[in-house]
Amino acid sequence: MNLVILGKPGAGKGTLCAYCVEKANLTHISTGDIFREEIKAKTPLGILADSYISKGNLCPDSVTNEIIKNVLLKDPTKSYLFDGYPRTVNQADALAQMMKELGIKLDAVIDMNVSDDLVIERLSTRRLCRNCGTIYNTRNHMPKVEGKCDLCGGEIYTRADDQVDAIKERLHVYKTKTQPLIDYYTKNGLLMVVDGALPPEELYQVIEANLNERKF
Ligand code: ADP
Ligand code: ZN
Repeated sequence: MNLVILGKPGAGKGTLCAYCVEKANLTHISTGDIFREEIKAKTPLGILADSYISKGNLCPDSVTNEIIKNVLLKDPTKSYLFDGYPRTVNQADALAQMMKELGIKLDAVIDMNVSDDLVIERLSTRRLCRNCGTIYNTRNHMPKVEGKCDLCGGEIYTRADDQVDAIKERLHVYKTKTQPLIDYYTKNGLLMVVDGALPPEELYQVIEANLNERKF
């Protein structure tokens, strides 16, 4: 089974995906995480990606599509949970083409619906572990020892693109480039809309039930 998680920045895609991976045999592919790894390692791809990401812009489609192509080519038989990909109509077309060539299919696209206000509140209070990527929040989920990840002891930091100006730009980019995918996947019958304000354990149950009953 292959699933796409769609939603505004801050909709809670990463948190939901982490929960799903614990519960089901899915391989989580987050293009954002892949780019952050490359940035951390200062690779040519990372340096290129950083010039877009730090301003709240999207990385070029050609670069992003290539990353996914390599993932799929390596092992087309796994069940993938795509998080943050596709993010443009060009990427959605590319994914459909790659899947067709590999004889695999997309089962559903889960749209996590949230308000702009919730996005701004969640992102401006979000913190991350630089080492393992665990997500924290200054309001309700901080590490036990200040500045150090509970799981790995890594440094806690704020993403450059979680500054208010970059958040506004990302919301704008979402509306112009990613929102058209809602229409795109509604038309081909794959879209499942869920309430992104729900906690991950409830969302998981809703999604599982909808998938079983193909109620979307
Ligand atoms: P969020 O959903 O919180 O915005 P992500 O971690 O998914 O964060 O992505 C962070 C940034 O990485 C995006 O703002 C964008 O610049 C870049 N990025 C991630 N996925 C893609 C993609 N599919 N296409 C282009 N750029 C991407
Ligand atoms: Zn950590």
